[in-house]
Amino acid sequence: METAFSCGLVWLRRDLRVHDNAALYHALKNCRQVHVAFVFDTAILDALPRADRRVEFIRESLVELDQRLAELGGEGRGLIVGHGVAEHDIPRLAHQLGALAVFASHDDEPLAQQRDAKVRGHLADHGIAFHTCKDHVIFERQEVMTQSGTAFSVFTPYKNAWLRKVNDFYLKAYPVERYAAHLAPRPEAQCQPVPRLSDLDFEVTNLKDLHIPAGESGGQSLLSDFLHRIDAYGQRRDFPAVKGPSYLSVHLRFGTVSIRQLAREAHARMIAGSEGAAVWLSELIWRDFYVQVLANFTHVGKGESFKREYDTIHWDHGPHGHKLFEAWCEGRTGYPLVDAAMRQLNQTGYMHNRLRMVVASFLCKDLGVDWRWGEKYFAQQLNDFDLSANNGGWQWASSSGCDAQPYFRIFNPVSQSEKFDAEGKFIRRYVPELSGLSAKAIHAPWLAGELELQAAAVELGKTYPRPIVDHAEAREKTLDRYAVVKKKAA
Ligand code: FAD
Repeated sequence: METAFSCGLVWLRRDLRVHDNAALYHALKNCRQVHVAFVFDTAILDALPRADRRVEFIRESLVELDQRLAELGGEGRGLIVGHGVAEHDIPRLAHQLGALAVFASHDDEPLAQQRDAKVRGHLADHGIAFHTCKDHVIFERQEVMTQSGTAFSVFTPYKNAWLRKVNDFYLKAYPVERYAAHLAPRPEAQCQPVPRLSDLDFEVTNLKDLHIPAGESGGQSLLSDFLHRIDAYGQRRDFPAVKGPSYLSVHLRFGTVSIRQLAREAHARMIAGSEGAAVWLSELIWRDFYVQVLANFTHVGKGESFKREYDTIHWDHGPHGHKLFEAWCEGRTGYPLVDAAMRQLNQTGYMHNRLRMVVASFLCKDLGVDWRWGEKYFAQQLNDFDLSANNGGWQWASSSGCDAQPYFRIFNPVSQSEKFDAEGKFIRRYVPELSGLSAKAIHAPWLAGELELQAAAVELGKTYPRPIVDHAEAREKTLDRYAVVKKKAA
């Protein structure tokens, strides 16, 4: 086979796997000698708290990736791991290794785009090419467009166009293994093991206690577990106390699982008649949808509302708003389902999708707090934080987004609780101080009788807060607050 370059470097970022890795495939196919590197980028890490599950997840995933490269390429092969400013370290490493090209997969987040533009420039200074390719979605950027050639801002027609376009070509895996012989041994100076968390100045978190498995093997074990349940996904996915969803989001975020593999599994089952698989595939399409929104409507990545008139809304930015926001963050709003959800987020870094919708709506439509504060808090806490999906979710809940829920649709946190956690099982897990209440009383303890509260050892205002706002009043205030949008749109 003719190869274009003698030596290439693969720079892994959000594609931490060997199997079906697009950038690795292109490098191996086009270069005789391929090195693979990851940089713990201080430009990102410096802003994080010293205990961050995501850093640990990445580190664990890299240990496995290092082993896989050695298994695949043979003795001396492995991952080169740096710790510094990636923007400088990658061009320096490429130069030292004598690479003529660097390969990476696309990242359309604004900061990543800026970083990559600088890397491209630094590499060009050394005469090194920078090849980037699609890896983490099925369709990106301008691949699925409306008939008039504009980007989609409504999900259902996007989904229909996505489904019309998808075929085996877009779903097939990149056969990385076929070119494994091109993996180069690491130079001696680069043979260090993956640094420990303490070497990176980070602390061990509760990731292992939470049984969140990292790496490709972790993604595969969650997937095989989920495929037994996929047919029932549509019926089970909305109930937080039930094992309904896949829990694969953190793997999709860091690319320890391939989106092509997931979409292929779902698509084949959908064709074979599985309704659950069709619903799940829809969720994967939502993911693609928001990635293309971020790429095509770049103002959303700069903190602006998709529908710009929503930026005229006055949020409670004062001390009162801060107090409400703190109570929301800490899971002490007095609304049990909201509090259980926020405590799940704080304790595990995960929150069930139904609850993300409920707490996001509660923050902006019951507490009158700017959705951007919630978006930022989620970005700090979520293991699966992804700018496109997080921004999309928050703008959906606040009604400012494309294809969002209408502004006058305001979730009632009590009826959501009665509907989706009828027995209070999820609430009991995360708000144990209410566990003695009956399934009827647990959704709104302030409505329970004194005797029931006493029997359950609940003292409102002491063992558990009274509601910080009255939902009916808050609803009216929200409709007033959003009236400015209605006027502008009229
Ligand atoms: P499953 O139900 O098994 O879904 C499979 C996959 O589909 C998910 O892993 C995810 O990649 C994708 N997906 C599902 N729902 C959505 C959606 N609404 N939008 C985009 N992709 C979706 N998802 C993130 O991955 N990162 C985020 O930062 C994020 N922030 C959110 C914020 C808010 C306010 C809301 C309402 C939703 C957010 N979501 C986010 C979407 C969704 O809640 C999570 O993807 C899902 O809960 C992850 O759990 P799972 O992997 O078990 O999902």
